[in-house]
Amino acid sequence: MHLRIAHLYPRRMSIYGDRGNVTTLVRRARWRDIAVSVDEVEREDALEAKRYDLFFFGGGQDQEQDTVARDLAKKGPGIREAIRGGAAALAVCGGYQLFGRYYQPAEADRLAGIGIFDAHTEAGPRRFIGNVTATPEADGLGGIPLVGFENHSGLTFLGGTARPLAVVRTGHGNNGHDKTEGCVAGSAVGTYLHGSLLPKNPHLADWLLLRALRRRHTDLPGLRPLDDALEQDVNESLAGRAA
Ligand code: GLN
Repeated sequence: MHLRIAHLYPRRMSIYGDRGNVTTLVRRARWRDIAVSVDEVEREDALEAKRYDLFFFGGGQDQEQDTVARDLAKKGPGIREAIRGGAAALAVCGGYQLFGRYYQPAEADRLAGIGIFDAHTEAGPRRFIGNVTATPEADGLGGIPLVGFENHSGLTFLGGTARPLAVVRTGHGNNGHDKTEGCVAGSAVGTYLHGSLLPKNPHLADWLLLRALRRRHTDLPGLRPLDDALEQDVNESLAGRAA
């Protein structure tokens, strides 16, 4: 097996340690003797999206989002087709917003998203900054809390066909009103949780890895369990502290 990851715009869209999510996915694959490669895709790079099993798109400030949005629009149809064909994705904060239908910043023109998620984002009057705990709704995550850190002014609202990733227990999540956090569409996950997210949430990391691998290995029964005692301690202590 060979897992191919595309890391979208890492030079501009990787704040609050979001690159750590890619490191986690690579390590958790290699610890299982799964070959894995990561291609960094910038605006100047061509993207043959169908080659990839998993896309990662980190967070970024409004001006960085504006810089990448035009190129993303060109790469969008291929990414959408790959995800509809079963590829997995993790899009965090600014990346999540641009995987939706659009992001309307406070003082700039609207940025078109690529419509992976039936969701849209409007700039809000304040920033949501702080720790978040949320109970996942998506199948296969076992209700184990997701813990992370949010820092965004964007308010994301889910459309009629969108499924939230989780229900907020502490913090704000998508918009601070409807208690939703993130969004799931097939094997694509959008979230506001930085941290980085996956080292503290190994269950979500493996959820993404398994789905990414099953794109080409449909009969893959599961992943060999890893010793996640440390990761689980961190998750439980952060979830407990927040409670
Ligand atoms: N610029 C977006 C916002 O403030 C996303 C920020 C981020 O990626 N942390 O909502």
